[in-house]
Amino acid sequence: MAATPVYLDHAATTAVRPEVRTVLQTWVAETANASAAHAAGRRVREAVEEARERIAGVVGRPTTDIVFTAGGTEADNAAIKGIMWAARERGRTHMVTSGVEHPAVASACQWLAEHDGATLTVVPPRADGTVDPEQVLDAVRPETALVSVMAANNELGAVNDLASLAQPLRDRAIVLHSDSVQVAATHDLRDLPADAFVISGHKIGAPQGVGVMVLDQGVPVVPLLHGGGQDGGLRSGTFAAALDIALGVATVAAAHDRDRLARDAQRQTDHLAASLSALGGVTRNGPVDPVDRLPTHLHVSVDGVSGPELTASLDRAGLHVAAGSACSTGSASRVVAACGILADAVLRLTVGWSTTDEDVHRAAAILSEVISGLRSESRPLRIFG
Ligand code: PLP
Repeated sequence: MAATPVYLDHAATTAVRPEVRTVLQTWVAETANASAAHAAGRRVREAVEEARERIAGVVGRPTTDIVFTAGGTEADNAAIKGIMWAARERGRTHMVTSGVEHPAVASACQWLAEHDGATLTVVPPRADGTVDPEQVLDAVRPETALVSVMAANNELGAVNDLASLAQPLRDRAIVLHSDSVQVAATHDLRDLPADAFVISGHKIGAPQGVGVMVLDQGVPVVPLLHGGGQDGGLRSGTFAAALDIALGVATVAAAHDRDRLARDAQRQTDHLAASLSALGGVTRNGPVDPVDRLPTHLHVSVDGVSGPELTASLDRAGLHVAAGSACSTGSASRVVAACGILADAVLRLTVGWSTTDEDVHRAAAILSEVISGLRSESRPLRIFG
């Protein structure tokens, strides 16, 4: 019988936690709209509001800062577009972002610049994928309304220094938004010094298709969606009650599991890095100092093999990993290019709350066998004369 594949793509999506499955099953069976005035509706609404309280507690913000969305992409778009639309009314139309943002941020900013009268400065990353706060601050102007810099990059796992941005931006009345999707599993979001940030449920053990925008109440914003006025008018649409409740449970579970996960992940990604490095011709990308990178992420360049061939061979051998980012459909990674990484192949290996040491040992063996095998196949034939 073929062995179960090893899944090391937790940055793309991680497993739903068992306690989350249970609440999801319970609440998906409820027939009531959380906005209905009858008893059934009020019961669902209470559970949604309890989920909001749980999330607010974990991120250390008032419940009025928590807006439920259909995931990280919607939350990023709602924050970026909403803040820019509100700022336009005050004559501020410029925004600054970085060259390593996820498309949920990069494309939203690009769209505003191309179709909506905004001006945009994109600050290139350093070679390790981090963004230099000085360069970001140099890019702001009197008409800057918004700076959006991700808390950590989804490909390289590079963690950004937001603390150096927060106060200088506040002094200039510029809103700081941060795409915090990738840090939520291992970092305490109470420490995030941003006026607006986001959680994507499927990165922390909730199902796909739910998230939150965390938005400081003092930040003027125009809603992205208009309709029934749910969520304080900031996000119209019937509450996705079962998903919102599941996210509340997942957020608390992830916060309890955070330190354990960070410790285990560090050990596991270090083990993978060491066994890959023993093969030769493999370079670890991203920040050198472990405090500047997510413990869950390992990004490497592999010489002497073709990228698509490597991913396909690993897949056949039962190891699921990402080449670049699974969230984008293009083959070449913008982030890898922006960081000037030149390689025959790049791999992103990411562990999560359910990854075992056994998974990691099996993955290391598969990587070694596949890379060595491909390299020996591609060695040029010797002509004996
Ligand atoms: N931002 C980052 C950094 C991500 O990694 C992702 C998803 O991979 C998103 C945003 C989008 O989140 P969602 O898949 O919930 O729309």
